[in-house]
Amino acid sequence: MAVTEDATAIAGELTHLRRAIHAEPEVGLQLPLTQQKILAALDGLPLEVTLGSALTSVTAVLRGGGGGGPAVLLRADMDALPVGERTGLDFASRIDGTMHACGHDLHSAMLVGAARLLSARQAELPGSVVFMFQPGEEGHGGAAFMIEEGVLDAAGKRAAAAYALHVASAELPFGVFSSRPGPMMAAAEALEITVTGRGGHGSQPHHAADPIPVACEIVTALQVLVTRRFDIFDPVVITVGSFHAGTTNNVIPDEARLEVTIRSFSPQARALVRESAVRLVHQTAAAHGLTATAEFTGSYPVTVNDDGEARFAADVVADFLGEDRYSPQANPMAGAEDFSYVLEQVPGAFVMLGACPPGVDPATAPFNHSALAVFDDMVLADGAALFTELAVRRLTR
Ligand SMILES: [Zn+2]
Ligand SMILES: [Zn+2]
Repeated sequence: MAVTEDATAIAGELTHLRRAIHAEPEVGLQLPLTQQKILAALDGLPLEVTLGSALTSVTAVLRGGGGGGPAVLLRADMDALPVGERTGLDFASRIDGTMHACGHDLHSAMLVGAARLLSARQAELPGSVVFMFQPGEEGHGGAAFMIEEGVLDAAGKRAAAAYALHVASAELPFGVFSSRPGPMMAAAEALEITVTGRGGHGSQPHHAADPIPVACEIVTALQVLVTRRFDIFDPVVITVGSFHAGTTNNVIPDEARLEVTIRSFSPQARALVRESAVRLVHQTAAAHGLTATAEFTGSYPVTVNDDGEARFAADVVADFLGEDRYSPQANPMAGAEDFSYVLEQVPGAFVMLGACPPGVDPATAPFNHSALAVFDDMVLADGAALFTELAVRRLTR
C-alpha cells in the first residue's frame, strides 16, 4: 500500500499521541513523561532502542532487510517552552506556565508515525534508519548532547543523510512544505559584556573611571561594526537588549552590564562577528583605561542545508504530494535551531511544514512561541509520510 494511505490509516493514533504530549508539556533536557509516551508508542516495533544519559533522549535504530547499506537519520525534538497556554483547546496544557508553543509535540508524533510506517517496510529497506527523539531544542543544545552520546553513529556507521521537519503555526499555508539550499536558519549568540571602571563622586569624574560613557561607545561601535565589516548580502544583526549601570545621578558606578543578541547566516560571518565584537569590546575599554569582559553564552551555529539534500527533499514533496505542496523559501529565517549541530557533520535538510488551521489566515495567525499558537493535527499524517518517503528514497538512491 502507498505510504500516504498507510499514514492516513494511523492518523487517529498519531493525533491521540500528539494531544497526550501536548497536554503534559515538559521543558529542557529532562522530559521523563514525554520519553515514556514515545517509548510506549514505539513498543513492539522491530527497533533497537537506547536512552540518553545526559538527557531523556530516545534513539531507535531500524535495520533494513540486508543488514548492510547506508543509514539515514530522522530527527524530532520533544521539548516545550515556558509559555502559559491561552489557546483554549480542549487538549491544552494542564501544566501552568508550560506549553508546546513550537509544535515539537507534533514532531514527536510524526516521527513515531514514520517509525511505524518504516518498520512495516523493514524487509524492503536497503539500509538503516536512525530515529532521533531529542529533548532540549529550545536553547538547551540537546542535539549536541545526543551527538556526544553517539546518535550520528547509532546504526554502527555514520549517517549518510539527516532530515528534520518543523511545523509553523503561521506564515506558511496549511500543508505546504518549504525549505531552501544553503543557510536555512540563523546562528544566534548571546553575548554578555561587563565594563569595569572605578566608582566615585559624580562631581569629580577625573578621580574615577566611569564605565557608562565607555559602555555607550561600545553600543554605537557595535552598530558601526555591522555596517563597515560585513557584506550586505551576508548580513548580521546585533541588538543590545539590556543595558544596566548605576543607582543615582551623583554616583559614578563601578560597572556597566550589557546583554546582546547576535544573528548571522553563514559560518564565515559568524566567525568574524564573534571575533571582532569581542575585540571591539576589549579595545574600546582599554582605549579609555578601563577593562571589559565579553562572554558568549548559549550559542547555536547556522543551520545550513546541503544543496543536494534540500533539492532532493523538495523533489520528494513535489513528486509524492504534488507541486503545489512545496514552496521554495526565499530567505533564511532569523530564528535558530540546534539541528544545525547535526548538519555540521551530516549533509541533510531542515524542512518547514505549514500547520496553520484551515480557514485561518497564515499571514496574521499567531506564530510559534505565542501563547495563542495553534498547530493543526491534520498535518501529522503527511509529516509522517514525508519522513518515511525521505528515508526510503534516500536509502534506495
Ligand atoms: Zn521554538
Ligand atoms: Zn521549534
